[in-house]
Amino acid sequence: MDLFDTHAHVQLSAFDSDRDDVMARAFAAGVRGVLNVGIDVPSSLAAVAVAENTDLCWATVGLHPHDAAAWTPELADELRDIAGRPRVGAIGETGLDYYRDLAPRDSQETAFRGQIELSIDLGLPLVVHNRDATDDVLAILGEYAGSVRPLLHCFGGPGDVASRAVEMGCVLGIGGTVTYPKSQALRDAVAVLPDGSFVLETDSPWLTPQFRRGRRNEPAYVAAVAEKVAEARGASVDAVAATTTQAARSLFSIQGGGA
Ligand SMILES: [Zn+2]
Ligand SMILES: [Zn+2]
Repeated sequence: MDLFDTHAHVQLSAFDSDRDDVMARAFAAGVRGVLNVGIDVPSSLAAVAVAENTDLCWATVGLHPHDAAAWTPELADELRDIAGRPRVGAIGETGLDYYRDLAPRDSQETAFRGQIELSIDLGLPLVVHNRDATDDVLAILGEYAGSVRPLLHCFGGPGDVASRAVEMGCVLGIGGTVTYPKSQALRDAVAVLPDGSFVLETDSPWLTPQFRRGRRNEPAYVAAVAEKVAEARGASVDAVAATTTQAARSLFSIQGGGA
């Protein structure tokens, strides 16, 4: 088994007491890559530090839409500097969150556009967070079509949105929500996605798959996501693991596996 967790936050304090054990369990479960996603400057720096100390880990550098009000040209320069460090695979997470609306929507858009431009400048893909903002997210990404390489993390479906997004060149991140009983529309969408158009993720420590729901999530549980995706597609878990891990390595320009 060769799994890649394309969206985790193992650098955060939720893992301070047992980070090495968590990564050992991930490796034992077949995980050969974990992309730890930055949500602000400190967590981006922490993600890079974990990546530099852990063969299995890579990092992203970004500002979450919840904190978008903090976006300034100076902060953009800071993120650009951090993104120059080794083992940075993407910019983000950025995007729009109209569900929590923790930052004003115009600030969210400014920070989103700033990180799109940063990712294009640096030749890195972009990790995109979208909650209740699909039309605006796709419209904004569409303005940069052909230049930006978006990964729509925690993709929620349904199928018509999946088709639109894949047609635009987006890669879809499928996570623990695919295991939830109410997520049939997402499973129907996942069933017909072309190979190479989607990757797997956990969003650890959040969005724990159904079998451990209510507890802290961790990258090892990406195996449960792979199982549910395989079931939805009528494919083997090994085949799903292989195609999604290949898609992840190609998106983030990562050669081979961690060990
Ligand atoms: Zn997110
Ligand atoms: Zn996240």
